Amino acid sequence: MKTGREILAERGPIDKDVVAVTVNGVLRDFHTPVDPTATVKAVRANEKLGLEVIRHSTAHVMADAVQRLFPGTQVTIGPAIEDGFYYDFDKAGGGTFSEDDLAKIEATMKGITAENTPFQREVIGRKEAIDLFTKMGEKYKVDIIQRRPEGETLTLYRHGKPEHQWVDFCAGPHVPSTGFLGAVKLTSVAGAYWRGDERNPMLQRIYGTAFPTQKALDAYLKQVEEAKARDHRKVGKELELFHFDPIAPAMPFFLPKGAYVYNAMVSYVRELYVKYGYEEVITPQAFDPKLFRTSGHLGNYNENMYRLWTEDMFEEVRAKIEAGKYDGDPNLAVKGVLDELGQHAFGLKPMNCPSHCVIFGARKRSYRELPWRVADFGRLHRYERGGVVHGLARVRSFCQDDAHIFCTVDQVASEMAKFIAMIQEAYSTFGFEKFDVKLATRPDKRIGSDEFWTIAEDALSEGLKKAGLEFEIAEGEGAFYGPKVEFHVLDALKRSWQLGTIQYDPNLPERFDLEYTSNDGTAKRPVMLHRAVLGSLERFFSVYLEHCGGNFPAWLAPEQVTIVTVHEDLNAYATEVEQKLKAKGIRVTSDVSNDKLGAKIRNARLQRVPYIAVVGQKEAQAQSLGVRSRDAGELGAIAVDAFIEKLVAESKPTHA
Ligand SMILES: [Zn+2]
Ligand SMILES: [Zn+2]
Repeated sequence: MKTGREILAERGPIDKDVVAVTVNGVLRDFHTPVDPTATVKAVRANEKLGLEVIRHSTAHVMADAVQRLFPGTQVTIGPAIEDGFYYDFDKAGGGTFSEDDLAKIEATMKGITAENTPFQREVIGRKEAIDLFTKMGEKYKVDIIQRRPEGETLTLYRHGKPEHQWVDFCAGPHVPSTGFLGAVKLTSVAGAYWRGDERNPMLQRIYGTAFPTQKALDAYLKQVEEAKARDHRKVGKELELFHFDPIAPAMPFFLPKGAYVYNAMVSYVRELYVKYGYEEVITPQAFDPKLFRTSGHLGNYNENMYRLWTEDMFEEVRAKIEAGKYDGDPNLAVKGVLDELGQHAFGLKPMNCPSHCVIFGARKRSYRELPWRVADFGRLHRYERGGVVHGLARVRSFCQDDAHIFCTVDQVASEMAKFIAMIQEAYSTFGFEKFDVKLATRPDKRIGSDEFWTIAEDALSEGLKKAGLEFEIAEGEGAFYGPKVEFHVLDALKRSWQLGTIQYDPNLPERFDLEYTSNDGTAKRPVMLHRAVLGSLERFFSVYLEHCGGNFPAWLAPEQVTIVTVHEDLNAYATEVEQKLKAKGIRVTSDVSNDKLGAKIRNARLQRVPYIAVVGQKEAQAQSLGVRSRDAGELGAIAVDAFIEKLVAESKPTHA
């Protein structure tokens, strides 16, 4: 059989950036013999699979370097992971690797990659492999080999000069030679138990990352730094936007400045609601569990729900116990109390949909009322496990810019197009110019006929085409009751976030037995579209905060202007200007403290205030301000009235 390299070579010279092949879609290196009928494709260094091959191959080179520098250290496993790779070592003599060690290892790795020797593949028998690694004193490798299933093809990979070859027991694939590697950064060390089991020895895991070029590596490292600097938890603390306290785990406290931004976002969405024909409702927070039995949440979502128990309910159960209902049997009493709790404890709503169904079903509805778009900023509670909550990005208490559209099947495509227009307008206001769209279609586990799914999927894709949007199909990723469309934005650091969604749901209208009277007088069932533009506002807050790095545009900034005086004689003028600006609705403070001018300016800068207005003798005489823009630099002297006009204009979300 020919190898992947031989098959590629028959087609012409192999490009320098080809690092491996796929054989019928499975990643393989150049050396592996290939079934002649298989489809072979080249894998390039900058593709996801190519990066994986580079990173895993780099892990071999790192292990080689570690064993050169720390003789007696044993190797275990070294996979590629998201954004890099690691290798776990049992370090000779114990202890860990220091920062200095990492630098030495990196330098030794450079030497190995400079030698540019090939990665050689070698098939080996089980016994020979065990003998080889036993002789080398690599007891973890022996353990790994012994656990491989009988009959599997076992392989070794070697690299290095003949006088110093480094060998690993590995299934591959690897790059053709070590010369393909070199843009490497070792990032950290952590303890890790062998096989993840704390009864096993503690190993030292060295993490690193690798890229096809130094330029790509530098860009990545810069992005990591930038992401750290913009981490919403850090910026949120610096700007005093929000706070967490164990008294309400994973439920944010928005501080005055954060609450300002949050409310400004909500006001903006409300403006869109007027423009796009939505009506807002306010619905209860806690419901009789009957509601969630009807909606199905109690069956499918109960582990994420908070339940409420009132003092009256406690009293009722106490009375039952005292009246001898449970025959004095404590086990029976406990079971009885739990049953009561399950039956009657109120549920805090995890979603708004059920209460909107209640409103729709509260009176007779006519086809003339459809489509009916009903919006709700209701606070939602979902119990998320401790391990998955993260700053504002994943919390247990939040609101969505949530709305439901009740409509006929025929109206879905045009509603979809209208929704997309709204999404485009909103994302561009927040400075997300690019977004990707995915249509998630019927999953294997689903309800409803194939005919229904075809109608629903066609309606959504027709709406997308109407809006002139390109989209990707996410096969089988729809909800069990209907297809959905997801909108993913790219932030300033080119990271992708899913924000918007629209979901086709015939299931809830069915469960709530919702009907409208059609134009021929018969009763028909509406379709329900669940949709959100920003999604969870808490999560959107975190995404947006990292996108803008805390540099809120003037329309969102909790403080738009800080006035600073050069001398205390000017405090009266500063206060006068402050009052004038405030009268026009501008969010302004003046720093009339005894601090030096430089310190005042630095404080305002740290707070990322869009404008700093400096007041000196000259400005006071001319009724002007010396204005510095955070984004545009020094603007020079501006008359107070002109500055007010500028800020009033910039306070509108649509200004940009
Ligand atoms: Zn390997
Ligand atoms: Zn919903």
